[in-house]
Amino acid sequence: MTEQIVVVAAALRDARADGRGGPVTERLLAARRSAPPELAGRWELPGGKTEPGEQPETALVRELREELGVRAEPVERIPGTWDLKPGYVLQVWTARLVEGEPEPLEDHDELRWLSAEEVWDVDWLPQDRPAVMETARRMESP
Ligand code: C5P
Repeated sequence: MTEQIVVVAAALRDARADGRGGPVTERLLAARRSAPPELAGRWELPGGKTEPGEQPETALVRELREELGVRAEPVERIPGTWDLKPGYVLQVWTARLVEGEPEPLEDHDELRWLSAEEVWDVDWLPQDRPAVMETARRMESP
């Protein structure tokens, strides 16, 4: 059996205001894909493929630096492994912002910080939904 390639993604959580004068509240970062065409416009937890021999947590930190220009650290794994296209599986970690303000530098054209109530306002990639659901649950009852 060939090895599955792990795609890592971050449920990046931060306490912040909505920018419209609302209260500071815990929020989850959603990123809208700009490519490939069949995924463009759908929302995901930012991340990407691990490189050969790379630890998933290391890949997560690297991907968040490359895609969003921030320093972030994994906090804990969200239990579960989700099938993507053949040969690829998704694993998700909650993560904490250490330094920088996320910007859509690579693969994305828009970012949104969603409160627990807003989490389903965007069209998530189906594979990301179980981890989004678990994250929303943890945001409501920390
Ligand atoms: O971002 P990248 O193109 O490296 O992702 C590889 C694959 O993983 C893509 O086909 C994408 O569909 C999937 N993916 C996903 N959910 C994420 C990140 C990536 O389903 N949060």
